[in-house]
Amino acid sequence: MTQKINPNSIPHGIALLQNPLLNKGTAFTEVERDALGLRGLLPPHVQTQDEQVARFLENMRRLADPLDKFMALSSLHDRNEALFFRVVCDNLDEIMPLIYTPTVGLACQRFGHIFQRHRGMFISINDRGRIADILKNWPHKAGIIVVTDGERILGLGDQGANGMGIPVGKLSLYTACAGIDPAICLPITLDMGTNNETLLADPYYVGLRRHRVTGATYDELVDEFITAAREVFPNVIIQFEDFANHNAFRLLERYRDKICTFNDDIQGTAAVALSAMLSALRLKGTRLVDEKFLFLGAGEAATGIADLLVAAMVAEGVEPEQARLRCWLVDSKGLVVQSRAGLAAQKLPYAHPHAEVGDFLTAVTTLQPTALIGVAAVGGAFTTEVLEAMAAINPQPIIFALSNPTSKAECTAEEAYHDTKGHALFACGSPFPPVQCCGKTMVPRQGNNSYIFPGLGLGAIACGATRITDEMFLAAAKTLAAYVTPADLQQGSLLPPLSSVREVSVHIAVAVAEVIFERGLATRSRPENLMELVRAHVYDPHYPSYM
Ligand code: NAD
Repeated sequence: MTQKINPNSIPHGIALLQNPLLNKGTAFTEVERDALGLRGLLPPHVQTQDEQVARFLENMRRLADPLDKFMALSSLHDRNEALFFRVVCDNLDEIMPLIYTPTVGLACQRFGHIFQRHRGMFISINDRGRIADILKNWPHKAGIIVVTDGERILGLGDQGANGMGIPVGKLSLYTACAGIDPAICLPITLDMGTNNETLLADPYYVGLRRHRVTGATYDELVDEFITAAREVFPNVIIQFEDFANHNAFRLLERYRDKICTFNDDIQGTAAVALSAMLSALRLKGTRLVDEKFLFLGAGEAATGIADLLVAAMVAEGVEPEQARLRCWLVDSKGLVVQSRAGLAAQKLPYAHPHAEVGDFLTAVTTLQPTALIGVAAVGGAFTTEVLEAMAAINPQPIIFALSNPTSKAECTAEEAYHDTKGHALFACGSPFPPVQCCGKTMVPRQGNNSYIFPGLGLGAIACGATRITDEMFLAAAKTLAAYVTPADLQQGSLLPPLSSVREVSVHIAVAVAEVIFERGLATRSRPENLMELVRAHVYDPHYPSYM
């Protein structure tokens, strides 16, 4: 049913055409053109939104360079949000890699050079003492903020203020994958300086020409920003994105029990990995506690996944200590064991008593894990020897090569299936095409965080949540896993197709809302029907009627 908007509540004339949240371009009807002062401002032929989508795609597909496609999409986003989201939602497989990884990485690196128009807010270290006033310049009521300090943009390191591409892209995915209203989405970059000398020497760099601030100065700015954001936008969800390891864990620990916040690199990754793991266990007929998980990597993704695996085991009745003993980490210095000095706090729960082991293959043959989870961004680290060793230990070895981009993947899908004679239960961080192996077509699926955070955000917004907890990520992971069909499992797919994400997100939102009400973390009273509550918050990119 077409949504109706009171024409007296919106600007008329050229101001309407220049408002991306309201603009319909050539799709304004004859009646709307007369009533809204648009006559003569548009070419006479009235187009449908479907025709506009087709025209945009025709033009975009003529462009060969993904960065040019990114820019074409950004321009559309800037002039007509509904059309942009129709294009994205109806063509998710094609467009997601253009508005998010891998193209968004390139867009961040070139941000100053391809800059066309403001989007989101930049708050710099020079803004100390006036951040609340600055946030009041934002013309809408923000319901969700994605914030970065640009220090660890994807696998590209410090991109300073150029990191803005990430919050913008991530918030587009909130709308595309779960229907979060774009009007309540606010991307923010905290410009703390950059240590990227190439950027500092680049005349088109958009950020401050200074090295990064650290220590108390850094913490005070983050603190002022958090306080101001909550003052100006009460109940806002603040998602930390692409902060460097040394700040990501600290900030999450500092704020998770005080405000409505989460870190997608740590917690969102964990939920999608747990979900794929639950599917693997369906194929094996085992429980989490029956498995032994060996991680390559001990950073944000690894410890986030390990923590959620432990939470899931504890929810199944396993003692926490017992659950932690099922998880082992290997970092750049070798196996994380109790005797190692100077381990970061997040690794300590997984530093078990064991002799030191330097190399990964020896860790595999010594510990005899049932599952490998690669999150160290070391391309090719799951060698033929490692994969063959896993196949020798396990009839159905679980192999997750989650590192991004493709060049950093621990192994390809082809290698995982061939080196285990087709027995691997495989998930990946980068997309891989189907693989023919042992007379079967295996369809690996990507552990994409977009399966989780949009639905979780939708649930939190619908309830006016006061906190985001691990229990909500657990509920999200289980809901996602429930959408993996026997046919998916048959072809080795441990996650549902990405094309189903909008519907799955609504169900994740309902499951998350259940937890929010159950734990007394909502700021509104519980309605009878949670599905109706959630669906009422879903933005529809089809044009409304202004009559
Ligand atoms: P991080 O920097 O926090 O952690 C990297 C870890 O790898 C560190 O513990 C480091 O010690 C370890 N490491 C580095 N070199 C190593 C080596 N030679 N041997 C063993 N360990 C080594 O990074 P992160 O945020 O945890 O991300 C890691 C990777 O996971 C990235 O490639 C990222 O793109 C990927 N990732 C994938 C998903 C997904 O699939 N959904 C989500 C998040 C992150």
